[in-house]
Amino acid sequence: MKSTVNINNRNMNNKSEKLRLTKYCEWKDCNNKGIHRAPKNRENLREFRWFCLEHIREYNNKWNYFSGLSQIEIEKELKADFTWHLPTWPMNGNIKYNINDELDLLKKNSNKKIKKTKVKNNKLDNAFKKLNLTLDSSLQDIKRQYKVLVKKYHPDANNNNNKSNNKLIEINEAYKTIIDNY
Ligand SMILES: [Zn+2]
Repeated sequence: MKSTVNINNRNMNNKSEKLRLTKYCEWKDCNNKGIHRAPKNRENLREFRWFCLEHIREYNNKWNYFSGLSQIEIEKELKADFTWHLPTWPMNGNIKYNINDELDLLKKNSNKKIKKTKVKNNKLDNAFKKLNLTLDSSLQDIKRQYKVLVKKYHPDANNNNNKSNNKLIEINEAYKTIIDNY
């Protein structure tokens, strides 16, 4: 995971480099460092807001409470003109940011799920195409069309031709895919 505020040891070992970009808590009237992050909203899980510990808790509570339906309500609690700030104090030693990766993990899992569904849908789409069927075909249509194609590409009808054999295998696979998902 890459994070813009994740200051690694390599940088920190360079003593001349004392000023680093930091973020302050995005909560209105709060001047603590914003070292905990939360997604901006449910539609935008890749962009984050940064808060101090107290306000990440409050933000998460509100987030749960509003269930993403009333983003405006949450925005009211935040600074309107939030930007990056340079720290006014010198930074030294190893500063370890305690970033909660739980949401990152959730995001990854849901992406995986979507990807899986997409692959499955593509396979199903192709199966329908292979049988010259439309996606809204009835089970009866599917079975009828399958029989027609099997007859057409059956080895007996094609002098055991390799091409038609392969075609028949494809048709069987496509048919199985459709039936499995019907
Ligand atoms: Zn705060």
